[in-house]
Amino acid sequence: MTATILDGRAVAETLRAELRAESATLAARLGFTPILAIVSVGDDPAARSYVAGIRRACERTGIACRPLELPLATTAVGLRAAIDELNADRGVCGVLATLPLPPHLPTSVIADSLAPEKDIDGITTTNAGRLAFGWPTFAPNTPAGGMEMLRRYNIPIAGNHAVVVGRSGIVGKPMALMLLAADATVTICHRRTPNLAAIVRGADIVVTAAGRARLITGAMLKPGATVIDFGINFPEWAGGKMVGDVDFASALPVAGAITPVPGGTGPVTNMMLMRNTLAAARTLLDGA
Ligand code: NAD
Repeated sequence: MTATILDGRAVAETLRAELRAESATLAARLGFTPILAIVSVGDDPAARSYVAGIRRACERTGIACRPLELPLATTAVGLRAAIDELNADRGVCGVLATLPLPPHLPTSVIADSLAPEKDIDGITTTNAGRLAFGWPTFAPNTPAGGMEMLRRYNIPIAGNHAVVVGRSGIVGKPMALMLLAADATVTICHRRTPNLAAIVRGADIVVTAAGRARLITGAMLKPGATVIDFGINFPEWAGGKMVGDVDFASALPVAGAITPVPGGTGPVTNMMLMRNTLAAARTLLDGA
């Protein structure tokens, strides 16, 4: 048996075509092109490359992108003022912040001040709370992309056992909440979990967001399990190539379906931001 490859590039391309059509219709009805604003503080190369990827996704889906690069010396008051301005700007439908912020700025500055209806990455306390309650909301885009992969490939979730490895607030924990909302039985594992292999072996769906290359091997999987790998690692042994948390070669003959790295969860992530921006824009029509 060889696992079905869950092709993130193909899913992202389908989404892009759907969203492009929707953005054109929306812009015509609104009388303006919805704007996605991206707030960055300081000059971090990783954030720059993230922003460049989002800009490309915006161009390809017909959304206007407005990067806002604030100086490293920006204070909490200054950042809150910038967020307030974006909150008040009707043309700005979605606001994204590149995280982490510099050490002198707690994430709560944004999480507590961004308008939840513009929080397309689900980082505000309101939207995170709504997700925890299982209510409709904007969820963090990386795990939302993982859920999209499961749905597009018709992987059954309800009643199945999902094991999520990693409990960060932006990937592992929201993924676990979304699987729970979709009626999976969910186990969350983290760096202090003993017997990871035994727990993973009981999973119908394995999700990894640990940032540890080769953490999950084929021998740890239940035959036929679905594997969603969010890991991004560049270990020395891979000669500078990007690999996930799953040992792909040993997992492939055991799993039923698996996301490759690269080309799995990554490409779908930015499309979730585009989808949420358009959903936020649509609410302007509802309120008109
Ligand atoms: P994080 O460092 O905040 O969290 C890692 C989690 O993994 C922690 O909860 C930790 O307890 C757990 N963990 C670490 N080692 C473990 C071990 N040996 N056994 C079990 N659990 C272990 O990282 P994050 O921000 O959640 O990101 C996780 C991974 O996902 C990283 O590789 C990151 O680069 C990647 N990522 C991918 C995307 C995407 O679009 N695909 C987006 C964001 C992050």
